Amino acid sequence: MSENPLKHYFRTPAIYMTLPSGVGFYPPTVVEYPENGQLPVFPMTNTDEIHVRNPDGLFSGQSMVEVIKSCVPAIKNPWAICNIDIEAIVVAIRAASMDTDMEIVSTCPACKEESKYGINLTNILAEKVNIDYSKTLDIGELSVKFRPLTYKEMNENAIKQFAIQRAFASMDTIADEAQKQKVVSETIEKINELTNRILVSSIESIKTPEATVTDSTFIDEFMANCDSKTNKTIKDYSIALKEKNDTKPLKMKCVSCSHDYTQSLILNYADFFA
Ligand SMILES: [Zn+2]
Repeated sequence: MSENPLKHYFRTPAIYMTLPSGVGFYPPTVVEYPENGQLPVFPMTNTDEIHVRNPDGLFSGQSMVEVIKSCVPAIKNPWAICNIDIEAIVVAIRAASMDTDMEIVSTCPACKEESKYGINLTNILAEKVNIDYSKTLDIGELSVKFRPLTYKEMNENAIKQFAIQRAFASMDTIADEAQKQKVVSETIEKINELTNRILVSSIESIKTPEATVTDSTFIDEFMANCDSKTNKTIKDYSIALKEKNDTKPLKMKCVSCSHDYTQSLILNYADFFA
């Protein structure tokens, strides 16, 4: 078949973006970096728009994976991308497809006034974030190295969290006190399991003078059997590292009282593309 004369009218990249993690953070099976490190971002097609309006697909994460593959073809495996990059990619896709301005509703912590604010997505994309997981936590002879969670891990955790929230919400409807207690303790156990799972996933390796342990089963076993002080030190460090590497909060100025405050930009994908 000859080449489609309409091919020249297909979508073209609307913007180019650098990932917050920089160039070379992922292997070529995950991201194929162009020479200059700038990933082309195409506007959404009709099929992509259907994906971002599918609640089940958004919930499972599959919709965003399809849309990312379509709009940022340099990304070969969106599931393996870490969360901060995913957020930047989603912001870039919206900026490439729709308006670069977005309206958000924010409540001033000083005067409690709720107002609408226009935010510029290009500015958010330009905000420099340094992802740095190279520093290790040293505890005695041990050296703990961390890593950011992938989109797949984040999404699985979010689905588990949702199930826990649902279990909590349904607790009031249980009339039998013994049954209720059983559900309470089961739910608490599930929360502990999830918190522990997230922590273990965030540990890349633990180095001893003899060996470097990367096996998550071994790390899991260590976390369950080390003293609580060590466990807490690792947990706190992991949380602090995640916060340091997270998307910078938006700087807000209240329209009513001029109070300066910050607000984190929480991307709810269902509303984000509406
Ligand atoms: Zn105010």
